[in-house]
Amino acid sequence: MPELPEVETVRRGLAPAMVGALFESIDQRRPDLRFPFPVDFARRLKGRRIDSLGRRAKYLLADLDDGEVLVMHLGMSGSFRVEAKAGTTPLSTYYHDTSKDPVHDHVVFELSTGARIIYNDPRRFGFMQLIPRADLAGHALFKNVGLEPLGNELDGEVLARLFAGKAAPLKAALLDQTLVAGLGNIYVCEALHRAGLSPRRAAGTLARKDGRPTERAHLLARVIRDVLEEALAAGGSTLRDHRLTDGTLGYFQHTFRVYDKEGAPCAREGCGGIIKRIVQSGRGSFYCGSCQR
Ligand SMILES: [Zn+2]
Repeated sequence: MPELPEVETVRRGLAPAMVGALFESIDQRRPDLRFPFPVDFARRLKGRRIDSLGRRAKYLLADLDDGEVLVMHLGMSGSFRVEAKAGTTPLSTYYHDTSKDPVHDHVVFELSTGARIIYNDPRRFGFMQLIPRADLAGHALFKNVGLEPLGNELDGEVLARLFAGKAAPLKAALLDQTLVAGLGNIYVCEALHRAGLSPRRAAGTLARKDGRPTERAHLLARVIRDVLEEALAAGGSTLRDHRLTDGTLGYFQHTFRVYDKEGAPCAREGCGGIIKRIVQSGRGSFYCGSCQR
């Protein structure tokens, strides 16, 4: 499943091909993905210019020149490819002439720049919607979305304020999308290991009795940003290296210290612990019982 750094990498990969371009034609090959496509989807997009490509949590937001926003979510297995239209020069650096299984190519956007953007999604948990920009913040998809961990908002003070008084495990609190948006299982496991904090620790222990952040809160906020920034850097290097991409954006090699490492020795120097797996809220938590407290 694409997590936040993957989605942000997709945004950075699509933006050069999409921003400023017009939708020339839209080939919508199914009535639905996870949800039905918007009514008159192709007709409403045709001729519209993409003014900007942003992101909120794991939603890609293409602002159109008629005031609507094309909201795109990758679900479990969605991906975009950027290809050149036959006989034209690709503007995007992500062009490649191989393609994934076309059976799962559900939407193809032909743009005025000559770029062709293909949405492929074998499991079809992704979706696209058209929402007026003015209604976006209050829309059901966005009104309860928590703060952006990749922006400048996340720090120890904020974590302490969000988690104060919460008996829920730290792992569950970090995955709560109404508190922090877009943090997924992988990066929560990695950040907790780096901070030396157990996923079972009560979230409220990051705040002092008077509500001020503990040292652990400051540390956790810092390492969350570190693991996300490092993943973004890995994604960026994948985008730059044509040999590592088939034109598909957003899935990249990234080495994890604890995620999916059950039974492996802890990577922390001098620790000597073994990575364990427990299940919390139905999801696997990977952590070192020796150095994560
Ligand atoms: Zn350890």
